[in-house]
Amino acid sequence: MIPVRDDLRALEGYHSAQVDVEVRLNTNESPYEPPPGFNDAVAAEMSRVAWHRYPDRGAHDLRAAIAELHNVGPDQVFAANGSNEVLQSILLAYAGPGRSVATFEPTYKMHSQIARVVGSTVVEGKRAADFSLDLDEVDRTCAEHQPSVTFLTSPNNPTGLLEPRGNVDHLLDVAPGLVVVDEAYAQFADWTALDLVDEQRPLVVTRTFSKTWSMAAARLGYLIGPTWLVAELEKVVLPYHLDALKQVAGRVALRFTDDMNERVSQLVSERERLAAAMRDLPVAVTPSSANFILFRPDTVPGALVWQRLVDQSVLVRDCSSWPRLDNCLRVTVGTPAENNAFLGALEASLT
Ligand SMILES: *Cc1c(COP(=O)(O)O)cnc(C)c1O
Repeated sequence: MIPVRDDLRALEGYHSAQVDVEVRLNTNESPYEPPPGFNDAVAAEMSRVAWHRYPDRGAHDLRAAIAELHNVGPDQVFAANGSNEVLQSILLAYAGPGRSVATFEPTYKMHSQIARVVGSTVVEGKRAADFSLDLDEVDRTCAEHQPSVTFLTSPNNPTGLLEPRGNVDHLLDVAPGLVVVDEAYAQFADWTALDLVDEQRPLVVTRTFSKTWSMAAARLGYLIGPTWLVAELEKVVLPYHLDALKQVAGRVALRFTDDMNERVSQLVSERERLAAAMRDLPVAVTPSSANFILFRPDTVPGALVWQRLVDQSVLVRDCSSWPRLDNCLRVTVGTPAENNAFLGALEASLT
């Protein structure tokens, strides 16, 4: 064996249990397959792909469709293999060795993980005990460490809390570098930072097809940002990184916006039903603006509740050993039947 890079030795990979159960509510995917018509429309377009040629390197049609959805210019759109590759591209271009990256914990683990993999110094600010952003901590972190990139996740994962606009404005005032607002779940919330994107402002908003768009298998995400930033990102991605199939699937999905909005409102009302039912049980429920709910059992240890749920063929995310999330579990909002199965299993697990 030969030694891996010194700074990678202590890192672990990112894992989410893939256990064989009947009710899978652990990775925040959509519980629904894409709308009827999507598969046929993709197949029809695929039959016209010139497979012997490289795909459109600039993904022009896909970016134009995304731009139209958000009412921005195509040159404000950067698309990649999942929003994780979007995040990696941002960090390759704006962070890396000799630069620091700030997060406010607990939050999405991939922000600090990718930042470390590309060689940046990670500064982890702490959130308040109720998981809200502590603006004094934001000021201190930015002043002391001068981060080149600062992340917010809104709604946050795994807490589900929406970042109020005032917090984003405040961060934009004090952050010395780029601000990234990860909006993987924004369609489930009633506020987005998209309107703040401007040529004069070092802000990008990232989105994904993995959650709302029922397309986790496709691995497609994007950002909306200033044109000058999108142009720099083109330097760090590999040539032809977006394959032809993905470009077609993403473009076709956007024809089904109405169906998607319909599903989002169904999931939001299921989320509210689920949260209300959970509040009747001995668990502390964090208010969620996403398609998942973070909760902490009052009397039984979180890890034990997780195992009891698995024993009843229900899989949720075990966050109980993560920093600042003692005993917490996170459940994805599923179909009404899945949610009922979860509620029954949870009640049985709490005594
Ligand atoms: C799920 C998730 C993503 C999605 O990543 P993809 O690579 O697009 O699947 C990004 N950010 C957050 C906060 C997430 O929870």
